[in-house]
Amino acid sequence: MSHKLRVGELKALYLTEDEVWRIFTVVLTSKSKKSATYKFGLLKSMIENLYQVNDKAVVTYNQLAYSFTKIYWNLVIHHELEQGTRGSAAVNRLVEVQQEYHIPKEMTFDKLDSTIQLKAVNRIKAVMKTNVFGALYGDTQGTFYAFDHKSEQFQFNQAVLTFMRKYQRLLIDLVNYHMAKMIEQLNDIPNINYLLSKVESIAKRSSLKPFEEILVQYFEKKCFYCGKSLSKDSVHTHVDHFIPWSFVQSDQLWNLVLTCSTCNTSKRDKLPVPFYLDNVVDRNERLVIEPELVALERELATYKKDKIIHLYNYSIQNGYENIWVPG
Ligand SMILES: [Zn+2]
Repeated sequence: MSHKLRVGELKALYLTEDEVWRIFTVVLTSKSKKSATYKFGLLKSMIENLYQVNDKAVVTYNQLAYSFTKIYWNLVIHHELEQGTRGSAAVNRLVEVQQEYHIPKEMTFDKLDSTIQLKAVNRIKAVMKTNVFGALYGDTQGTFYAFDHKSEQFQFNQAVLTFMRKYQRLLIDLVNYHMAKMIEQLNDIPNINYLLSKVESIAKRSSLKPFEEILVQYFEKKCFYCGKSLSKDSVHTHVDHFIPWSFVQSDQLWNLVLTCSTCNTSKRDKLPVPFYLDNVVDRNERLVIEPELVALERELATYKKDKIIHLYNYSIQNGYENIWVPG
């Protein structure tokens, strides 16, 4: 378990921007496991300290813990927002400090007495040592930073530091968005609940039934992945986005296939193994030679097999690395 590590060395010194983007995408999206918002908290703390590093790109645990504590104090105590599955250690430590010193929730971190700030920072630093530094280190495969619990030093990979400075504004927005979305899911706030999820799925069609009807007309009614014949009763026939919807954000016939419910449910928003990319390319060759269909589905007129191949490769670049194989 990487979050138990006490020391982490840099695993890669030379990273291209493409590589840093890909790792960022994996960390920010649901592709990396998060039971609490800690990883976002650490990324925000890193961003706050991009210009506090020494000439070896080192920042102290105290500096990072100060930023992290401020962020969490304001979210947890001041705004009373949940930050993770029940019993989140960072939340508990802050609530303890609040109760010990009878601090009203109106007090933001900046207004706290400096001795109380220091107490909170030290407790949070301990939580970061057990739950935070190692976890994000593991998610980035040791490429973003090195850390050492004994000397309490955190060293940015120079390539990552340069990247984060260059794209700082964009990264702040990305981290804020994903952190807010997770906080939203953890908190029950009437009326504004799930605003971000709503915005995100606003373009989603409620039914792909018309596509199913078209595909059934031109192809045998069997699962694109496992080949199982799909019964007449269409309840068990699913329409799957070959390249996940969460990446393409649209519904084109050339990216839709008929599947059984088992395959569709297990695939979810993963990419299938490359074997099926060849199959979908072949399938689409058959679609585009149907004049009636091309007249009906205008996207088919501009379809080129390169499009779906590029999309497949860009999906991997965007963090869809978990390739699915039918069960
Ligand atoms: Zn199937």
